[in-house]
Amino acid sequence: MSKLDEIKERYGDDVDIIDMVHHFLTCENTDKQKERVEQGRLGKFYPSSIGRCKRAVVYQMLGYPTKPINGQSLLIMENGTGFHNRMEDIFEKMGILVAPELSLKDEELRISGRSDAIIWNFLKREDEQDDEEIVLFDPNDSEKEIYRGPANHILIVEFKSIKNKNYTKLPKSKPKTAHEMQLQLYFYLTGIKKGIVYYENKDNQESKHYVVEYDEQLINQVKTDIKEILDYADRRELPEKEGNALDVMCRYCDFRNLCHTPISEDQWIELYFNDSEAS
Ligand code: SF4
Repeated sequence: MSKLDEIKERYGDDVDIIDMVHHFLTCENTDKQKERVEQGRLGKFYPSSIGRCKRAVVYQMLGYPTKPINGQSLLIMENGTGFHNRMEDIFEKMGILVAPELSLKDEELRISGRSDAIIWNFLKREDEQDDEEIVLFDPNDSEKEIYRGPANHILIVEFKSIKNKNYTKLPKSKPKTAHEMQLQLYFYLTGIKKGIVYYENKDNQESKHYVVEYDEQLINQVKTDIKEILDYADRRELPEKEGNALDVMCRYCDFRNLCHTPISEDQWIELYFNDSEAS
């Protein structure tokens, strides 16, 4: 079969390039979801789930089916990933990057994931004593150390790309609660004591950052929340719905059609551009 016949067979006769891109991304994403289920990667807790509706997290842990995600939605998500990569490249050229990612593991909380960037702690005061030594590993090679040294010589950075409407509503002195909690979980898992949530306005690349300090009380709260979710998953029960069909959290939820009257992808895209957030 010629290359051209192969392409026509794959994408059909009467499609344009944009349909082809969307079709490709949707199939690729569906394959990745299947792979996840086949590799038995269900039942894990992902740190990025902090602050999400607990019911949605349990759906995900138990492998409830999400419907295929529309290509345009996947492009929106890829933009977020592109922002992370771009910032990590910039940090590297600036000479402040320790590692672009870091392995995050915890058996009790069933966490196996990776963080965003680790950078040198340019905020450390000259008179500040060194903290205890910590050792951090590469997420792609569990034997490979990417940092060994005092905990307060490095910072952990969480990148978030958000729409203008939400960027202008960011609180004055703290990041959004879910993002602060995500950093607290990272502190617990790594031993690092300070971090930054770095926001970019995805409409115009304006940026804002918040420094977050280790907070034992918040860490305990995050751990309690995760354990509650794990208990539900173990009992194969679903927590109560946290929103109704019109709430922002439900509009963006991959499982919204399991909780509420189904809406089409076109309706969803319309909601996305007329309202609210997907970071
Ligand atoms: S649709 Fe709403 S209530 Fe249901 S899982 Fe998603 S966020 Fe939670």
